[in-house]
Amino acid sequence: MKPYAPEPFANFADESILTQFNHALQGAINQLDRTYPLVIGGREIFTDEHCVSQNPANLSQVIGRVSQATRAHVDAAFENAAETFKTWSRKSPEQRAGYLFKAAAIIRRRKHEFSSWLLLEAGKTRPEADADTAECIDFLEYYGRQILTLADRGKETLVPYPGEDNQLHYIPLGVGVVIPPWNFPLAIMAGMTAASIVSGNTVLLKPASQTPVIAYKFLEVLKEAGLPDGVVNFVPGDALVIGDYLVDHKMTRFVSFTGSQRIGMRIYERASKVHDGQIWLKRVIAEMGGKDSIIVDEDADLDAAAQAIVASAFNFSGQKCSACSRAIVHEAVYEDVLARVVLRTKNLSVGDPSDPASIVGPVIDQKAYDKIQSYIELGKTEGRLVCGGTQTATPGYFVNPTIFADVAADARISREEVFGPFLAFTKASSFTEAIAFANQTEFGLTGSVFTRNRDHIEEARATFHVGNLYFNRKSTGALVGVHPFGGFNMSGTDSKAGGPDYLMLFTQPKLSSEVL
Ligand code: GLU
Repeated sequence: MKPYAPEPFANFADESILTQFNHALQGAINQLDRTYPLVIGGREIFTDEHCVSQNPANLSQVIGRVSQATRAHVDAAFENAAETFKTWSRKSPEQRAGYLFKAAAIIRRRKHEFSSWLLLEAGKTRPEADADTAECIDFLEYYGRQILTLADRGKETLVPYPGEDNQLHYIPLGVGVVIPPWNFPLAIMAGMTAASIVSGNTVLLKPASQTPVIAYKFLEVLKEAGLPDGVVNFVPGDALVIGDYLVDHKMTRFVSFTGSQRIGMRIYERASKVHDGQIWLKRVIAEMGGKDSIIVDEDADLDAAAQAIVASAFNFSGQKCSACSRAIVHEAVYEDVLARVVLRTKNLSVGDPSDPASIVGPVIDQKAYDKIQSYIELGKTEGRLVCGGTQTATPGYFVNPTIFADVAADARISREEVFGPFLAFTKASSFTEAIAFANQTEFGLTGSVFTRNRDHIEEARATFHVGNLYFNRKSTGALVGVHPFGGFNMSGTDSKAGGPDYLMLFTQPKLSSEVL
């Protein structure tokens, strides 16, 4: 088998690629406003209740209407998943991996089509959508190979003992609940699902209510790849109706969650309760928020730093848990870096991502829009507005990239996650102080440092408390297998998605010892 390598990104400067993409986009537009079912044990179920998925850049455009599961549907899905587990868990790692490789091949062939759905349903620009689709392919390819490695690791890592054959078998857990986010609605959704099933588990997948259509499209791929019915059960639904119910259910063996800190903490707490008839402690894999800083040292390449700050803060409207929302800059270069960042930001064109010229698209929904606006108001009391902060008159949830300067390290806008195109600048009097400022949050996900000073690189390695620490590059864009991704403290359980240890979280090691 070919060794794993990340999927290359599309080059949209190439006219022929752009034309292919635009053709795929038109194809997706022709399929808008369809109605989608739940899928339980392979059976499609259309319900009366629908979630209407809208284009955040153009609210009058309905992406699709998605059936909503009730608690009775959830019960039926658990029964089905538990029954399917009996056969699926006995398939070999090679067989299970085969479905992932097939799904990856299908998506690779139709990658602009998937990116088009991401553009329409999540408001991603072409390069951002393309990166999401590429990452989806990467997760499928990588976890497919990782399950084979894990099987070998169990055979090779034990200390030999005379007269015995000892092996560790990484066996699956059972039925899992997968609750993915809307911000990487293809890659992370598929990655969490693929890791669960390739490890031998069966799942109930509850897609994010903002992006259920793209999740359904992934389900279609799994079906086309021949995945047996009941391995992935698709249960979109209102979180108020089925969210807690899924987590609390006695048949839930694990919950894999990526999303906000508030919901992650709720899941973690609720999952700790043992319910009647439950004979295990539930496992929770939670990836939550971030409040990520880019530190610029006095000797740094200032233009490279400014470019990375702008890309990390404003690509996909800052809606990544890895996004830079704080620039912490040495006082010797503070005004210079600020001026460069503001200049670059003012050149970003905000608009509907269907227009290839748009660099910054919309934010996901009204709730996100309102939250960002309230932080902009707060920012006016905690800093000096130097860019953005104004309303746009467009038919979607557009927010102009906004920058506040001279913000104290302990201000609320320095500590709380905004999840929008929102950046706070803070001045530090030394490199050590810059790291102390960056660490002053309850999160610990990503961080970048721009410096040419080797001692400072080592100092940051030792003291900058983040799961993903980057030097002289942006804080976003972790590649599967290359930059395993996950954070400390309130950023989650540091599960390191896309890393060599990730599948351990979806398995339990069983020892077998045979006297020879
Ligand atoms: N892995 C993504 C990155 O490195 C971020 C994932 C997220 O926002 O949840 O940018």
